[in-house]
Amino acid sequence: MEYHTHNPRQTQELAQAIGTKARAGQVFCLVGDLGVGKTVFTKGFAKALGIREDVTSPTFTIVQEYRQGRLPFYHFDVYRIEDPMEMEEIGYEDYFYGEGVAFVEWADKIRGLIPPEAVWIHMEKDLERGLDYRRIRVEGLGEVEQ
Ligand code: ADP
Ligand code: MG
Repeated sequence: MEYHTHNPRQTQELAQAIGTKARAGQVFCLVGDLGVGKTVFTKGFAKALGIREDVTSPTFTIVQEYRQGRLPFYHFDVYRIEDPMEMEEIGYEDYFYGEGVAFVEWADKIRGLIPPEAVWIHMEKDLERGLDYRRIRVEGLGEVEQ
């Protein structure tokens, strides 16, 4: 499915609608260039899980775990990963096949490790449609009701 947002709030609302329905064991992969709105999206998603803490990208670790929501939330940022071995070392499988929801920014960098049933979310700009326009493609989920 393809969605169109025209401001950060609409992106957050879409992310919240997706997060509201997230189930244990799901893996969400978020892909898009720097500045496209991945953090905006992630914050909306985390909010829908009931996480009140401010969710920003983990800076010094590959994964940051949040436990105060309705489900454990495992937030990955794999931008700096150079070797999939780094994922092995942190025991990524416990997160991807665990009791919580895994959310992976820059997942295309570790495509080979992503479970086939994962939900992929691609965000992109289209400057012809305005500075704040974002096209958000969601693969692996039905239509998102907002
Ligand atoms: P990323 O994490 O992908 O690098 P950020 O979420 O940090 O990007 O930043 C996205 C920027 O784009 C923010 O400054 C946000 O206000 C702005 N923005 C403008 N329009 C949108 C939109 N439709 N959806 C999301 N962010 C938008
Ligand atoms: Mg970001």
